[in-house]
Amino acid sequence: MEATRMKKLPPYLFARIEKKIEEAKEKGVDIVSFGIGDPDLPTPDPIIAELCKEARNPANHQYPSSVGMLDFRREVAAYYQRRFNVELDPRSEVVSLIGSKEGIAHINFCYVDPGDINLVPDPGYPVYGIGTLLAGGEVYVLPLLEKNGFLPDLAAVPEEVAQKAKLLFINYPNNPTGAVAGKEFFEQVVDFAKRYNIIVCHDSAYTEIAYDEYRPMSFLEVPGAKEVGIEFGSLSKPFNMTGWRIGWAVGRADVVECLGRLKSNLDSGQFQAIQYAGMVGLRHSGQLVKDLCAIYTRRRDMVVDGLNRMGWNLKKPQGTFYIWAPVPKGFDSASFTEYVLEKCGVIITPGNGYGQYGEGYFRLSITIPEERIMEGLRRLEENLGKVEF
Ligand SMILES: *Cc1c(COP(=O)(O)O)cnc(C)c1O
Repeated sequence: MEATRMKKLPPYLFARIEKKIEEAKEKGVDIVSFGIGDPDLPTPDPIIAELCKEARNPANHQYPSSVGMLDFRREVAAYYQRRFNVELDPRSEVVSLIGSKEGIAHINFCYVDPGDINLVPDPGYPVYGIGTLLAGGEVYVLPLLEKNGFLPDLAAVPEEVAQKAKLLFINYPNNPTGAVAGKEFFEQVVDFAKRYNIIVCHDSAYTEIAYDEYRPMSFLEVPGAKEVGIEFGSLSKPFNMTGWRIGWAVGRADVVECLGRLKSNLDSGQFQAIQYAGMVGLRHSGQLVKDLCAIYTRRRDMVVDGLNRMGWNLKKPQGTFYIWAPVPKGFDSASFTEYVLEKCGVIITPGNGYGQYGEGYFRLSITIPEERIMEGLRRLEENLGKVEF
């Protein structure tokens, strides 16, 4: 018998579409997939070279510290100083993670007791809500609406909910909507968190994936942020390192300490050679990220221009490698996803997989080569013609 907590997990919305993808592949259909948000390009060479070198050092073959090597934490602090002008104490305000997903899930076990409430954006990265539920907490949904620029309306959270809330999850640049947030919003978040004694968890996975001179800020740049929360960071997206599993949490010292204490009881940190390799990425982040974003810019323009030619009216996102778009008239998220798979052999992600407020949308990930993007767009145009809403 499975534990009751497993029954609290929401139904897996992609199961039906994944079955259809399997079937299409078995039939030998050539599939163009805009589905998965996982970089297609390789990890940059200097990072791989560092891993190879450090993998040969026996000192790295033993258990690492679960909070990360001090050198790694220093490199994260140096990056924050350089990139955001934010000062961090590497000993007390930085903890390494086995990918930021690990920390985002585990922070719930640090602060959520059964019956507690977390404020969770919808649509959003599913781990915020799932981590909440596994810790016995309850999710209060913060709708991310297009008319609000996909920012949550904190003033709309009922007083009694805010009083009971433990954690507030936010994520900008945002997966799946591609929305970005500025200083004004982060200031509102700090005020709100202070008023209700809520811990802010900002997921900054896409802080380096941005376009047209726009440079996303860190939540910690806002005065008072370090007293109310932490920021999760990841090497996965800026350096094409999703398979390597390395990230961090930085910010409020007692929260960083609590997460580190939990981790020291659960895991033994990330392989030191991977930490050394990640440090090389951080040290060279300026150029590496510039090169990567130049590639994503061309892909983004191709997709948005292509869809707009078909009748969409999309603005180019300023961050992330996702395009978030409404489904045409006569469809919902699921039926449109199935339609384009069956008619075009094209995979898109149904918006309702990211929550109820994602219904009516779909997400395209531009983590595929330009010629596949062209092919995908050609098939969509051929089958859909001009779309209406
Ligand atoms: C990809 C992603 C992450 C994290 O990735 P890790 O590989 O676990 O560091 C976190 N949040 C969002 C919104 C993401 O899309």
